[in-house]
Amino acid sequence: MADGTRVETTPEIMTEFTEIEMRCVPCNASWSAPVVRRVNVATHPDARLGILLKTMHRTACPLCKKPREIETIFDYYDPERKLVVQVRPAWEIRAGGGEDWYWARYEDLVLKYATYDVRVDVVFGFDEMIEKYLGGQEAVAAARREWEARRQTSVGDASVEGVEGPGTEEVRKV
Ligand SMILES: [Zn+2]
Repeated sequence: MADGTRVETTPEIMTEFTEIEMRCVPCNASWSAPVVRRVNVATHPDARLGILLKTMHRTACPLCKKPREIETIFDYYDPERKLVVQVRPAWEIRAGGGEDWYWARYEDLVLKYATYDVRVDVVFGFDEMIEKYLGGQEAVAAARREWEARRQTSVGDASVEGVEGPGTEEVRKV
């Protein structure tokens, strides 16, 4: 700046993926599965569908093919609604933490996004996320129809065929 003033711009909240190490005890197999660490649903809209259809954060053992749900914590950011929701495993709240656990996680999240003009919340499990923020069972039914329509127009695309909804790899595609 010519006049010496500093303009501080807060960086956009961006989608981030990471890998998580998985292990299948009976097979003694290990593999790494992609997971969302944070998702901006404007740039990665399939995250919404992946949550509604509960297909995001699923993986399978490469040997016995047993499907597994991946337990992970991620932040869902909807820029249009100026909303960040941290999605945590459902068992956490049932494990006895209750309200105190919720408020502690909520306060952490407030601090994490303090420089952004967003409201935040914490949910435990995809079901709570769906009910509280994604439109409930009606939205689930609409997501099923949307996915079905997409499947019919993408015959021969192995990433869509025979799959009940977008997985993490699908969400990753832009
Ligand atoms: Zn296995």
